[in-house]
Amino acid sequence: MTIQLGIPRIPAKGGGGLPMPPSRPAGVPVGLADRFGRQATDLRLSVIDKCNLRCTYCMPAQGLEWLSKQSLMTLDEIVRVVGVSVEKLAVRELRLTGGEPLVRPDLVDIIRALRQRHPSLPMSMTTNGVGLDKKAQALKDAGLTRINVSLDSLHEETFELLTRRPFLTKVLAGVKAASAAGLGPVKINAVLMRGINDVEASGLLRWALEHKYELRFIEQMPLDADHGWTRRDMITAAEIRELLSQDFVLTPDLRERAGAPAERFQVRKRNAGGGTQGPVLGTVGIIASVTEPFCGDCRRTRITAEGRLMSCLFSSEEFDLLSLMRSGADDEELARLWQDAMWIKPRAHGMDHPGLDSPDFKQSGRSMSAIGG
Ligand code: SAM
Ligand code: SF4
Repeated sequence: MTIQLGIPRIPAKGGGGLPMPPSRPAGVPVGLADRFGRQATDLRLSVIDKCNLRCTYCMPAQGLEWLSKQSLMTLDEIVRVVGVSVEKLAVRELRLTGGEPLVRPDLVDIIRALRQRHPSLPMSMTTNGVGLDKKAQALKDAGLTRINVSLDSLHEETFELLTRRPFLTKVLAGVKAASAAGLGPVKINAVLMRGINDVEASGLLRWALEHKYELRFIEQMPLDADHGWTRRDMITAAEIRELLSQDFVLTPDLRERAGAPAERFQVRKRNAGGGTQGPVLGTVGIIASVTEPFCGDCRRTRITAEGRLMSCLFSSEEFDLLSLMRSGADDEELARLWQDAMWIKPRAHGMDHPGLDSPDFKQSGRSMSAIGG
């Protein structure tokens, strides 16, 4: 298959006469079940691979060819894919992502069309927030339920170092507008990078608590286009808890996690003597995908912007749902391919081993931006 600048594309299977996944055995449950007893009910759908930032942990400084317009799923194709997932495969939740979803010109129309077909489907979106100030109200009016904004630093220089673009002010305006438009509770996703923004752990939490945003720290995963991730350099969940504990007391929030990737903590201020002081100020989440993985309870299924099915962020196989659709397949055939693809979902991603030399772990050929995080 094509090799693109920075990111080799993985050969796709499924549509257009290409190989298909093996069929699941007869008699297994309806929906998107796999061999390990998990059921995927949460769809992550990328609407575009293109992005207007270049976060160091995701994209290369330059290069990375974008998909052509013809390779992207159209509005109608997205609506059909989501329809199949909800109406035939028991998907119960949708998250739109990218690349940067706000870069797609017909994003509001896509959301409106999805909402018309699925009046009560929880539909959220992950965005870098650039341009969100101008679109937040339209997104809400079109039917978006909630929003996650990625923000790793509150300092312009650090923000620019991480994203390679000087857009902190725009992102902050976007977060504010999302909250005002009723897209809350706004969740903030932050990735900490050693020696760059790890000193901001407490500052980010203080800011989020003050504005009533829900902050979630995400462990850096080996999904960067440059393949520069190392276990030694990544900031672990244990370190994040340690960093936050200098200023806050964290108590595990014992509410049912229900497949959510973030482990949540109630947050109280730490007083000068080291004890707690005052009431619970809010919560913070930590997504420990690498060091404390939650694969055993994973409920995700993924579709890339060009309509490839992925059962896991680290799947080495992907299946071409879009080509199958474009070849004239009916909804039953699409659903069957999806079920077969999910049936062979790996037990785990294998990152929870001490080294990348683990036989279980293979870095994905795609960057996070090309999958849809
Ligand atoms: N562009 C949008 C954004 O940044 O929110 C949506 C797509 S982005 C790929 C989705 C999420 O993936 C972001 O919160 C980003 O921080 C996270 N992400 C990207 N690369 C990552 C990596 N290597 N490890 C952990 N999280 C990553
Ligand atoms: Fe773009 Fe999001 Fe990747 Fe940053 S994390 S480069 S904003 S896709």
